[in-house]
Amino acid sequence: MRQARADGPPRSSAIADVPRKARGDRRAVRGSGLLMVNTLVNLPMPVYSHSRIESFRHCPRKYFYRYIAKIELPEQPEQIATFLGSRVHAVLEHLYERVAKGIVPSVESLREQFDQEWASHWTPAVVIHDRGATPDDCISLGWRCIEKYYQRFHPFDQATVIGLEQMITFPLDEAGRFKMIGYIDRLTKTADGCWQIHDYKTNSSLPTQAEKDDDPQLAYYEIGIRRMWKGVEHVELIWHFLRFDHSIVSTRTPSQLDQLRAEAIATITDIEGRGDDTSRFPTHEGPLCSYCEYQQVCPARKHLYQVRVMPESDLAREPAVALVDRWAELDSKRKLLQGEQGDIDGQIEEIRQALLAIAQRDGLELIAGRRTEVAITVNDRVLFPRKGQEPEKAAELEAALRATPWWPQLSSLNVGDLRTAWESAETNSELRRILEKFVWTDRERSARLRARRDHK
Ligand code: SF4
Repeated sequence: MRQARADGPPRSSAIADVPRKARGDRRAVRGSGLLMVNTLVNLPMPVYSHSRIESFRHCPRKYFYRYIAKIELPEQPEQIATFLGSRVHAVLEHLYERVAKGIVPSVESLREQFDQEWASHWTPAVVIHDRGATPDDCISLGWRCIEKYYQRFHPFDQATVIGLEQMITFPLDEAGRFKMIGYIDRLTKTADGCWQIHDYKTNSSLPTQAEKDDDPQLAYYEIGIRRMWKGVEHVELIWHFLRFDHSIVSTRTPSQLDQLRAEAIATITDIEGRGDDTSRFPTHEGPLCSYCEYQQVCPARKHLYQVRVMPESDLAREPAVALVDRWAELDSKRKLLQGEQGDIDGQIEEIRQALLAIAQRDGLELIAGRRTEVAITVNDRVLFPRKGQEPEKAAELEAALRATPWWPQLSSLNVGDLRTAWESAETNSELRRILEKFVWTDRERSARLRARRDHK
């Protein structure tokens, strides 16, 4: 059983993967389970679960809506992924209930069980997203999951069943302050004493080993069973990816479990420290928002939600929509103009350089067009070493000036001050002799377009 078979290629499907524990009919199947959860939630100290902790980590605001404000949501139509997952889980639960009683059902009887399970729950309201997929396609997919599993594990004697849909409640800490709850699809124990936590998945994609080694859900359950039973030594976490006929097995070290426990306690402490103040549960807007059930109330999504369902005629009258659309229009225009401006600037620069070259070649200071002219100016700029550009020469200049009476005025080595000093110093003066070792001139040519001055 611990041996995984070769994997088939992942099948692409628009049937979304839905977390197992979020499936509504699990509650219907196990009505007492729901009662238990609600009873625990109503205790003064909340009881946490993997999904509750992850909900906060993904989006604190969503956590607030679900667990603190407890916003009631209108009944949503069931998605096919949820429906299919529930049917497959129910049949595998039935299979192992029989096995636990010493009866191995035939594959035919299991098929009957599956068909019955499907038919008794099916309603046309179930949403199939996959374009072109029919309910029969979904039945085939569901049955393939079970059939492959059956063939791989028949006669199901790899381990003793300890619990099916096993509810576990346990504290994360020694004092029992941080309580957790969870459900294990199947808990088994092998002949050599290995406890196995099984989870069935009908996901349309197969995660990697590394992803499951990092997945906390079953590891929480390991913490739970180690607390609930004595003598639990070796534990395996096993995910059965039924569409791929593949199982991923992971184990955790004691220090990994300690770290998981510490991180969960830190998250719970953080949650509880925020009280019931909405503003302390910020929104985390991202791709998962599209699947969030609280889009209608969440400030990060509610306007988008309203706009999505608004008839086109109302959209035109909605001022906020008009303002956003107008902004977008102006923004595209601006980008277009910015692009054009960059292009025009480049062309002007090319013309400037060409005119400067003509002016230099032909000795011109003015080049005429029909109505405009370009004035060429040549400036010889007096320059001195600058600390940023010519640091070594600047240091030499500083050393040469430091011992002179001009140092207080020129100590910043400002080029403007040095130029003034150079131009006002007497020829052959000491200052002039010092500065002439460092001064140089830079010829700067510029071209400026203006109206022709001979045109009045
Ligand atoms: S819509 Fe997005 S941001 Fe708002 S609560 Fe849901 S997940 Fe969080």
